[in-house]
Amino acid sequence: MTNANLYGLLEAHFPADRLSPCLETPNTAVWTFADVEAESARYASLMRERGVAPGDRVAVQVEKSPRALILYLACLRAGAVYLPLNPAYPEREVDYFLGDAEPRLVVTRPESADGAGRLCERHGIGEPLTLGTGDDGTLIEASRSMPDRFDTVERAPDDLAALLYTSGTTGQPKGAMLTHANLFSNAEVLHRAWGFRAGDVLLHMLPIFHTHGLFVACHTSLLNGSPMIFCPRFDAAEACRLLPRATLFMGVPTFYVRLLGQAGFGSAQGANIRLFVSGSAPLLEQTFEAFRERTGHTILERYGMTECGMSTSNPLDGERRAGTVGPPLPGVDLRVSREDGTSAGPGEVGEIEFKGPNVFAGYWRLPEKTAAEFTADGFFRSGDLGRIDDDGYVSIVGRGKDLVISGGFNVYPKEVELLIDRLDGVAESAVIGLPHPDFGEQVTAVVVRTPGVAWPTKQSVIEALKQALASYKVPKRVFFADELPRNSMGKVQKSVLRERFARG
Ligand code: AMP
Repeated sequence: MTNANLYGLLEAHFPADRLSPCLETPNTAVWTFADVEAESARYASLMRERGVAPGDRVAVQVEKSPRALILYLACLRAGAVYLPLNPAYPEREVDYFLGDAEPRLVVTRPESADGAGRLCERHGIGEPLTLGTGDDGTLIEASRSMPDRFDTVERAPDDLAALLYTSGTTGQPKGAMLTHANLFSNAEVLHRAWGFRAGDVLLHMLPIFHTHGLFVACHTSLLNGSPMIFCPRFDAAEACRLLPRATLFMGVPTFYVRLLGQAGFGSAQGANIRLFVSGSAPLLEQTFEAFRERTGHTILERYGMTECGMSTSNPLDGERRAGTVGPPLPGVDLRVSREDGTSAGPGEVGEIEFKGPNVFAGYWRLPEKTAAEFTADGFFRSGDLGRIDDDGYVSIVGRGKDLVISGGFNVYPKEVELLIDRLDGVAESAVIGLPHPDFGEQVTAVVVRTPGVAWPTKQSVIEALKQALASYKVPKRVFFADELPRNSMGKVQKSVLRERFARG
């Protein structure tokens, strides 16, 4: 059997000159590929010494750093299942994840050692290790004496590589089980689709507890054997400073909005970049256009999710169409279905479903929930509503749960938001449904005006939309907000808006 361990498959593409840079920090400290191999070997050896066997989960809640990424690679090498946790999760949430995933080992921040220690004791897990962003933490101390070589553990394609929790549509977060083959196949497809080549340098400013920053960004770069400039977080001014050293940039839409907000940001910063990629949340057409105008670059928007990695992408060569996420990626079978399960016609909105090597192995210990998310012929129901145009381009119109049903009519928030966003004086908007005694839900708009302007008014928003939309789609109420609540991946948190405005 050939070893399907993702680490081994990536390592096979590391450059012959192992002294070339793999990770550079903004202050230009360099981790070569040789360093990454040696350090990941030490961590993998330590994990084995701590009793981590292939298939065991390793939960990691640390700040982003080169060592944090190396710890992920070490988990793969040891055959463990990597479980990343957002550093922002409070103890109460971590408690849930530890109880559900039953990891063998927990790695936490030095400052969280006490709390994590208590949780580990409660769940019968050994003492946690710690990893800080300096050269601090018990992981580093304890691994110093470990060998710098480690035989990467044999794994089959369907063995689990990672467990990523996702809130999905409702209820408790569910652990999406991703296999070595899921992750490697998606890495290969993206590497090819985005034309990775010798000389590429990725400016990496995304978090690494999520599919975008961890898998999309890191796997493609590692597979390319090229360096990443690895920053602790996104910062627009820092991005402007570092972009000239890079050829690729991946971000959530908020990053692009913030870059455009930087005085003096323009073609000079983008001169060395060959590709700007956006995803994880919808990129506004205004942002897409403004970015093109300011830098001469057409952002490539792609679409994916924790359960399936990336499923569609606008093309590298060919039209990158604003407001769409492009055609399905090679190997991804994507269709749009009506509620009754029949296929939607071209341009008709329905639920997006897909099948392919990218599609996950199911939700951790939830066989019934997993079964409910798949159709009888094996397609995963994404929960996203969208349509496919005649020429194969996919557009996302919203999440199923965000659909507003008013008086029995379906209102797709995106359609209304696009029109509001085009009004003078509007920076962005979110359309939600609020409970209504007659209609079930009432279409409601939350509008962020361009700073410093008092236009449009509530009434003028409604009047403008009446010209363009069927009356059941026109918001009956309009609220103004200074900004829209977003999570760390730039997604507008409509549940927060629903709660806030339902209370008035
Ligand atoms: P996550 O599992 O956190 O990556 O979230 C996945 C969800 O983000 C998808 O199901 C979509 O609802 C949304 N999403 C990701 N990329 C895009 C995009 N380019 N446009 C619109 N929505 C997106």
